[in-house]
Amino acid sequence: MLIESYELQIQVSPHSSEKFEYEAIAYLNADIGAALPYLNSTLSRGIYLPDKTVLSWRHEGRNIGFWANRIAVDNLESREEAREVVDHLVEMVNQVWAKRHELEPDTTTHPRLQPLELYRLLPQTNCGACGEETCFNFALKLVAGQVPLERCTVLFEQPAHEARREQLTSLLSTKWPAL
Ligand code: SF4
Repeated sequence: MLIESYELQIQVSPHSSEKFEYEAIAYLNADIGAALPYLNSTLSRGIYLPDKTVLSWRHEGRNIGFWANRIAVDNLESREEAREVVDHLVEMVNQVWAKRHELEPDTTTHPRLQPLELYRLLPQTNCGACGEETCFNFALKLVAGQVPLERCTVLFEQPAHEARREQLTSLLSTKWPAL
């Protein structure tokens, strides 16, 4: 097992004003730098920066950072959830490391999703139903993970947009790896 233990620090997010959100940092007892290329080949839409030894990943509305000596995650609702999510992430790193001989390490930096890629698939009517003035504003918030795709009701209510909806869902999906 790569990570045997960690020390967890949980704090209230400085960004939250209306409700409590928590951020967690797990300081690891192990150096996971060598595991990051394997995580990079396993996680969908992770951004690996080899020169900084960091891999960032968005999953279920949370920003997650893997460094050689720590894992950080934000947008947590409670201290209990923080512990649960960090436990899952540590388990995932350990599983990837255990299976590294079956995986191809990937040291490339995958391109970030661009707002224009999403905008091209949106209905482009600027109807405002999502609460944004334009579809491009919505695309900017989508790429930053600040709004769910479902807020574009036009996309979900009109059958003509089914193919676009599926493409957008696939582009935005970051599934937990099947290990
Ligand atoms: S609801 Fe959809 S179509 Fe309307 S402005 Fe928002 S993103 Fe564009």
